[in-house]
Amino acid sequence: MWSVARPRWIGYALVTEVAAAVATGTAMVTDFGGAVQFGWFAALVILGVGQAEMSRRSERLRRWMSGQTHINVTSVWYLAGAFLLPPAWVAVLALVLYLHLWTRVWRNVRTRPAHRFAASTAWAMLSCFAASAILTVDHLNDATLDTGHGVLALGIAAAVFEAVNMALVAAGIYLYTGSRQSADLIGTWEDNAFELATLCLGGLAALALVAQPVLVVFVVAPLLLLHRYLLLKQQLQVAAVTDEKTGLLNTAGWHVLASREFTRARRGGEFAVLMIDLDHFKRINDTYGHLTGDEVLAAVAVAIEDAVRQTDTVGRFGGEEFVVLLPDTAGPHVLAIAERVRVAVGELRLVVGGTSEIAGLSVSVGVAGYPDSGDTLEKVLRSADAALYRAKDAGRNRVAV
Ligand code: GH3
Ligand code: MG
Ligand code: MG
Repeated sequence: MWSVARPRWIGYALVTEVAAAVATGTAMVTDFGGAVQFGWFAALVILGVGQAEMSRRSERLRRWMSGQTHINVTSVWYLAGAFLLPPAWVAVLALVLYLHLWTRVWRNVRTRPAHRFAASTAWAMLSCFAASAILTVDHLNDATLDTGHGVLALGIAAAVFEAVNMALVAAGIYLYTGSRQSADLIGTWEDNAFELATLCLGGLAALALVAQPVLVVFVVAPLLLLHRYLLLKQQLQVAAVTDEKTGLLNTAGWHVLASREFTRARRGGEFAVLMIDLDHFKRINDTYGHLTGDEVLAAVAVAIEDAVRQTDTVGRFGGEEFVVLLPDTAGPHVLAIAERVRVAVGELRLVVGGTSEIAGLSVSVGVAGYPDSGDTLEKVLRSADAALYRAKDAGRNRVAV
């Protein structure tokens, strides 16, 4: 945490974590609850852990793929807890469910280091405290439910839970990433619609536990289904921008990122584009077959990615043509990177079919830059393409500007 997080985020995280711990301790002393509450607590732990176990693999994949995650299916259970349990137990419930998620799901996810997880847990606990300040189990007896007051209180408590959680998380993401985009801070409309569905299930789970605990089983199936839907959606999103042969961005995906960079550069920045085409690739196909040709394409993709920087955006424009966007780069640096790509491909050695070795590949590279080569992304790309043709005409295996 000390080395990767910003000081203001560290301060925010520590303050909220201490607040969650103090609030839990205080609540433990003032209202410890009784046997019935403990029964509910145990039931919610079992349900939460069971549901997380059933969706463990898909959840890990989901966390791995998404940057900021706003949707947390587990919140169903601690929201139900917020209605049923004394505040201290709700916070402990959130802690237990989060710890379980950590050991089973998040621990191996690179984008979710422990300090972010710990802060998320504290925010969930504080949201629970806010919700249980609005609504307690006394609101959910038959009399209040009959008059409609119980349902109203349930709705308000869920809204408060969501509002507090959203504010705590948005502040955390802002302090961590510096992003001001609403999709990063509070999630998309769809994220929030999903969150709403989760809250509804949380309310129903609470009502079920009060009326007839066995009914809570009916919440589990829709929950697992929501979860699968989320995962599927994310896989589709990734597939839509990925070239399946190489794993690089496809044309559409590359253009999304490149347009973003262009918008940034228009405010006085610069960037460069490399258009890369394999030389005499048809010969590889003719000699070894198309499947081997595909293997070569994948290897070249890796070589290009390794030769450029982490911040550069590599895409495949179809065929044996690749394109790289180099943000904040101009002049001799661009040429050096283009040259590095050319040399890296030249050094590739692939063993195919167990015996024959493919080596001596080469690429021609066309280079263009913004703003020197054109004032739109389209013009810069055309310019790089023209340079590529010049590199081919001049004898291939070279870089042209
Ligand atoms: P040049 O040096 O002029 O670029 O020669 P070249 O043979 O690389 O160029 P050309 O554009 O004539 O041929 C490109 C070849 O790339 C044609 C096609 O067989 C092959 N190709 C395009 N897409 C794929 C692919 O997805 N997989 C494989 N294996 N081959 C592909
Ligand atoms: Mg070619
Ligand atoms: Mg080509």
